[in-house]
Amino acid sequence: MNKRWTIEKIKEFIEKNSESKLLSTEYHGFSQKLLLKCACGTNFEKTFTKFKNNNQRKCEVCQPPKASR
Ligand SMILES: [Zn+2]
Repeated sequence: MNKRWTIEKIKEFIEKNSESKLLSTEYHGFSQKLLLKCACGTNFEKTFTKFKNNNQRKCEVCQPPKASR
């Protein structure tokens, strides 16, 4: 069962589970890229799915993408 996420719940999740902040004010679905602000001050975009399931909770400077195989 999919939990229904709202922008408020997402904001809460992000602030509880990372040092990043949510800048987006609307949420339209899992494919939408959310605008986030990393603890270092860099803005970055990430879908909530990647943020939550792939543990991509920082900008690419603090957490560089894994090198592709
Ligand atoms: Zn950063």
